Amino acid sequence: MSEALPPLSPEELLRRGAAALGVPLAPGEVERYLRYERELRDWNARMNLTAAAEPGEVVVKHILDSLACFRVVSAGAGVRVLDVGTGAGFPGMVIKIHAPETPVTLLDSTRKKLAFLEHLSDVLGLSGVETVHARAEDAGRDPGYRERFDLVVARAVAELRVLLELCLPFVRVGGQFLAMKGPRGDEEMGPAARALSLLGGERERVESLSLPFGAGERRLILIRKRRPTPRAYPRKAGTPGRWPL
Ligand code: SAH
Repeated sequence: MSEALPPLSPEELLRRGAAALGVPLAPGEVERYLRYERELRDWNARMNLTAAAEPGEVVVKHILDSLACFRVVSAGAGVRVLDVGTGAGFPGMVIKIHAPETPVTLLDSTRKKLAFLEHLSDVLGLSGVETVHARAEDAGRDPGYRERFDLVVARAVAELRVLLELCLPFVRVGGQFLAMKGPRGDEEMGPAARALSLLGGERERVESLSLPFGAGERRLILIRKRRPTPRAYPRKAGTPGRWPL
């Protein structure tokens, strides 16, 4: 269970939370996250993008949670990043804001979420954000996306064995896939062992961390791609979830 947040402004939660995570923020970065939170709240009032939440909760449970990925991976100009099932941009948009030189692709099957992310990208003055409206199973077969990314990330999309089939096809051999999971994430490793080896991945490390302000435990599962993914994967849209490997 997570505890109630301390009575701090969203700005203070961001500053102190990032420091507690050990992820230093650049000048101007906090303002961008605050604008992100405001835009998300504004769009949420008109279309349901995420479960409604207080600003402090969004800052801690979405933004700081996304920033935690920097505990295990790095980004930058030479690192092509793809966020599969990005939703309202977590963690992909946070990666872009924290490391703006990084070319970031945000993929989701829901058009309105991508419309929000395009708007956000404009108001924050970000460049080098690509949105892709597709099912991961379809984009993963497209030569323009298949095995093209150095780092693929996903948060709250599917259980690990399903997620591996959706995500590993996008990773270049030698690249990484990061699954951002809750406290029981490591329990998904066993059932995912077969998928991992079929798809050409290898476990690199699993990092356990506590979000600041008692907001919960996280498991960051980092996979290294060692071999190309066989052409049979991903199977057609819907199959990975219905009949997991
Ligand atoms: N990563 C975000 C959103 C999680 S909700 C976050 O952590 O907040 C899951 C998202 O994945 C939804 O936006 C849904 O549209 C998308 N999604 C689920 N299955 C998908 C698939 N097969 N291909 C593409 N997007 C998918």
